[in-house]
Amino acid sequence: MRAVHRFTVRAHLPESLLALGRLATNLRWTWHPPTQDLFASVDPDVWSAVGGDPLRLLARVPAETLDRLARDEDFLARTRAVDEDLRRYLTVPRWYQQRRDEGSVLPDSIAYFSMEFGLTEALPNYSGGLGVLAGDHLKSASDLGLPLIGVGLLYRSGYFRQELSAEGWQVERYPVLDPRGLPLELLTDSWGEQALVQVAMPGERTLRARIWKAQVGRVPLLLLDSDIADNDEDLRGVTDRLYGGDADHRIRQEILAGIGGVRAVRAYCELTGAAQPEIFHMNEGYAGYLGLERIRELLSEPGLKFDEAVAAVRAGTVFTTHTPVAAGIDRFPIDLVRRYFDEETSQALLPGVPTERIMALGAEEDPRKFNMANMGLRLAQRANGVSELHGEVSRAMFNGLWPGFGTEEIPISSVTNGVHGPTWAARELGKLIGESEMDRGAGLRGMQPVSDSLLWELRSSLRQRLIHEVRRRLRLSWLQRGASELELGWCDSVFDPEVLTIGFARRVPTYKRLTLMLRDPERLRALLLDPERPVQLVVAGKSHPADEGGKAMIQQIVRFADDPEVRHRIVFLPDYDMSLARYLYSGCDVWLNNPLRPLEACGTSGMKAALNGGLNMSIRDGWWDEAYDGYNGWAIPTADGVTDINRRDDLEAGALYELISEHVAPLFYERNADGVPGKWMSMVRHTLATLGPRVQSSRMVREYVDHCYSPAARSVRDVTGDEYRGARELADYRARLAAAWARVRVSDTHMSVEDGATPFLGGQVTVRALVELAGLEPSDVDVEVVVGRVDDDDELRDFVTRSMSLVADGGYQATVTLPHTGPAGYTVRILPRHPLLSTPAELGKVVLAG
Ligand SMILES: *Cc1c(COP(=O)(O)O)cnc(C)c1O
Repeated sequence: MRAVHRFTVRAHLPESLLALGRLATNLRWTWHPPTQDLFASVDPDVWSAVGGDPLRLLARVPAETLDRLARDEDFLARTRAVDEDLRRYLTVPRWYQQRRDEGSVLPDSIAYFSMEFGLTEALPNYSGGLGVLAGDHLKSASDLGLPLIGVGLLYRSGYFRQELSAEGWQVERYPVLDPRGLPLELLTDSWGEQALVQVAMPGERTLRARIWKAQVGRVPLLLLDSDIADNDEDLRGVTDRLYGGDADHRIRQEILAGIGGVRAVRAYCELTGAAQPEIFHMNEGYAGYLGLERIRELLSEPGLKFDEAVAAVRAGTVFTTHTPVAAGIDRFPIDLVRRYFDEETSQALLPGVPTERIMALGAEEDPRKFNMANMGLRLAQRANGVSELHGEVSRAMFNGLWPGFGTEEIPISSVTNGVHGPTWAARELGKLIGESEMDRGAGLRGMQPVSDSLLWELRSSLRQRLIHEVRRRLRLSWLQRGASELELGWCDSVFDPEVLTIGFARRVPTYKRLTLMLRDPERLRALLLDPERPVQLVVAGKSHPADEGGKAMIQQIVRFADDPEVRHRIVFLPDYDMSLARYLYSGCDVWLNNPLRPLEACGTSGMKAALNGGLNMSIRDGWWDEAYDGYNGWAIPTADGVTDINRRDDLEAGALYELISEHVAPLFYERNADGVPGKWMSMVRHTLATLGPRVQSSRMVREYVDHCYSPAARSVRDVTGDEYRGARELADYRARLAAAWARVRVSDTHMSVEDGATPFLGGQVTVRALVELAGLEPSDVDVEVVVGRVDDDDELRDFVTRSMSLVADGGYQATVTLPHTGPAGYTVRILPRHPLLSTPAELGKVVLAG
């Protein structure tokens, strides 16, 4: 019999156990071991049967158990203690408050928008790294006391659950989640009515969404859900799946997340009295429509003009890009975007915002495309990539928006991603080096007194636990693929607790090269079966449902691992998610990553491994490019620059095999008198001590505060103060620039050398220029001389710039010290100057001499 309707019954808790409900719905339990212990002690068997999920535990344990516990003084005392600890966590001033006391200008509230949030497997609302990063951002924001509000969508089926067919082909399942069984609370008004967000859709339709709130420590996360009776069947499906539909489906999701998301934040703040956000952070371009809604608000109240509203919105927007490839950017067919923002729909959706201005915000080289990253960059005064290398790649990738500037001047900075220590470091490690250390995200300094053999024992027990899980999941997978219990005895002896264990788990886009290790199957087989120094390999990863190529790669791995000769040394585990991830990151000795450089923007799984004393073996891409120091793991040599992709794969796979057999395995199996791999452990120790603090999201969030949120808060106050005087001035300034710029020019330049001789290094030259400002004031611009090396095409490299002084009517002059020897050149340029610009390159305007 099939149910026609499903719903979830929440446990009715006895009065004295009400605190358990509080503790179960605040997701701080996901990173707080004492709270987990408390729930486990309610009923250890049920706790493990529900995969450590407090709400499901409470729904599952018999009422008699709860009645008994309600009278158990010891249990009640422990509950009170944990509850009191949570109360303290939620109320005492933390880092952010301290920062403010020290005099930093900080926003009263920040809204953080993301299409996915990976907080816990108990709330499966993510597909991979981007979502888990957003989840870790919220957790660290909470730990540090940031007044942050997360905003996203709640998907009825999350991403998908992965299974394998008998042939090793990926099969997707979409289990329906009932929000009432999840750690969520419906946002309601004071009458108890659910708060609804509305956004207009083409054809005079209205998409409505209710708002669920997850509480992540101190941080609320608002999730919009269109699956309600007020919507017709078609619109109910808008939030059905993450990344599950065509472009039309996606644009509806993005309009709901961006425009609806701002409306949800407004409703939340009004209903709860929370401060309205000053800063809006877009985690990737998907949420870009949020800027349009904020423009609409400012047009209506206080009645700004469009350009003034843009100036105000830009000041308070931070945009983080995660994509190092043009093909990975979120772009829509222009006609589709026009349909959602045509005059008629716009009247209802964004009254007062002209369609053509919207279209201009997403314009790119291809006139048939609307580019969400370009819109993000045009609506955000501050933008960043997610590792140093990715910052560089992004500056080169987007330099078309800032023509005439050197790549290094493109205003896209970088904040390297991090991972939430208390979530991702094995609990046992916390015990060994002090839980409070982990909790403060202070890194792993407490490790000094721990001996090598204790640390090795811990690493071995984590490996052992992984192996146990590998066997359990492998058996389940085979049963699900149609095998019978009888023929699965071999699963119990898969993997060996003494053998060097390498992990490789990731989504399966082509650039991550899941199958690089299979490049030479015989060599891989030899490594696995080496009689003295074998390795074992655990692999996992989901392919996007529409990506047949990715599924074929998974099948290739599965087929290889199915071979009875090697199946005890290599496994593919289906359904890579946060719960499997935890075992992998803590239990593997080596974490492998072999992307095509530089296509991995950052990568965070390796950081989670490092946090547990796992050693990274990776191509120097993403975070590893800046973190690798020669002692904390290995760099797989890259054949970056070899254009024949097959040859490049051959070269890099060969380097990988050699690295394992010549360096990694020998080091792992070299033991000292007490059986401990001494050199290995010194690398583990070094990794924990140096990478431990660096890879944490507490470091990342502090950087966002100091380099993005705080400067943005200053900009916001500058443009909004005195009834938006700054925004009006800036818009007025931009209009004057736009009118004059085409006629602004450098009409003449001249260089003279000290003493009239050949210039020498460190010598001085004087440059003069005549400039026509076409009606602009001298104070509106900076005139600069640029001096540097020149390449064969006379392109300036490694240049320095000096501001030139106005010495006569239109005449500018500067004296420069020559920075380099060899072929050199100079030019003169004119840049916009205004106190409310964050950098002179911001507006993408420059006039060059000649
Ligand atoms: C951390 C994490 C990722 C991201 O890993 P990458 O190194 O960026 O590939 C993906 N999935 C899960 C479940 C994670 O926890």
